Amino acid sequence: MPVQLPILPLATPNQRYSCHGCGSCCRDFSVQLRDADLQRIESQQWHTELGFDPVVRFRGNRYLRQRADGGCVFLEPDGKCRIHARHGFSEKPLACQMFPYTLSPDAHASRLGVSFACGSVTANKGDLFRGQEAEALRIALRGIPEALTAAPDAALARGMRSQHGELDSLERRLVRWIDSAHPLHIRIDGLGWMAQSLAAARLASVRGDRWNELLDILLGALPDELSMKALQAPSIRQLAMLRGAVFARTEDPKPLALGAPSRARATLQQFIRSMQWQRGRPNALVPTIDGVWPRGARFGAVDAMSPAIGAGDATEIDELVTRWLRARLEGGRVWGSGAYGWSAVDGVVALMLEVAAVGWVARWHAAATGARAVTLADMQAAVGRIDRTAGRAPWLAGAAERWRIAYLLRDDGMRRVLRAQWSTG
Ligand code: SF4
Repeated sequence: MPVQLPILPLATPNQRYSCHGCGSCCRDFSVQLRDADLQRIESQQWHTELGFDPVVRFRGNRYLRQRADGGCVFLEPDGKCRIHARHGFSEKPLACQMFPYTLSPDAHASRLGVSFACGSVTANKGDLFRGQEAEALRIALRGIPEALTAAPDAALARGMRSQHGELDSLERRLVRWIDSAHPLHIRIDGLGWMAQSLAAARLASVRGDRWNELLDILLGALPDELSMKALQAPSIRQLAMLRGAVFARTEDPKPLALGAPSRARATLQQFIRSMQWQRGRPNALVPTIDGVWPRGARFGAVDAMSPAIGAGDATEIDELVTRWLRARLEGGRVWGSGAYGWSAVDGVVALMLEVAAVGWVARWHAAATGARAVTLADMQAAVGRIDRTAGRAPWLAGAAERWRIAYLLRDDGMRRVLRAQWSTG
């Protein structure tokens, strides 16, 4: 029997969470079921009461069926869960019990993290997150063994095993930079520069203590380094890559919903939307899906919206983005088992693409609601939307995403798209 790992609490000091029963996770997620979930649902005899099978098969897995609007079939009009109300919290599917906790094991411990797809997490409402490890452990022990079983430590870079302390050292220094007193757009630009520099560095000759020295030299060069070379605006192709990244993270066709289009029709509709995203014609409406995201923004209006951090609510936006970045790193969701098994360098680079996507989505949300500038509500929606798929959606570890990242690592592409979303000018 595998040894059960201890849980490492989230180090992010000011993160809070309590469930406020908003029901948004029940409207949003597809709930994949484990064997134990299937047995419980079977024994609860919902089939007879609902008049249809609440479990649906899709691509070899089983899920809770969704209503026509994409919400869970067990979601009541008052936002409560019918299984919870009838049988209690511990009788719900394990994925529902676990959300928004995440557990990312390595060789020595399982790190507790948190998904910002939960509105209470994003808004920082409720009890201090630190101290909730026992609850996450209780849920994992009910039937999520892989969350508590040792997994390999992340590599430092592709094909390069990490040595003792190297990953911790990188995390500590990145957190220090994220928490520094520089304006948010400088910190984001600096992270983009770090990601590009680490991806281009020959790391084989800087292991152990020399790795720490390299990180100190790179971070010590910031922010002077950022102003050394003027950066051009992103190219048309670089912006298309960013839109592709946003599409891959926000597209949500709800194939499990009652009355969903046939697979062939859904695939065709998705292909049409992907072409619209790729072209990004200024007068074209940003494609969206009913009930999921506000309609009415045109690509041109999103691009014309002020950069995310130059707007009102700057202090609150700064606090949110800083807390989110820290929680991603400290919750083990940037590299290793919490991020598709990526190496540390690949994970940091991928995180920067997510930060650029958050900036674009915040501007999209603002444009769709007719605002003139990005507000805290736009940024909360954007962080929630982008964090929702991170580490979960298998296609974000696939060839298309790797191609996007590789393309943006050329010619300062990552920094150029980051600056276009976050710079004050
Ligand atoms: S989104 Fe968060 S606050 Fe809302 S019901 Fe789900 S866990 Fe609770």
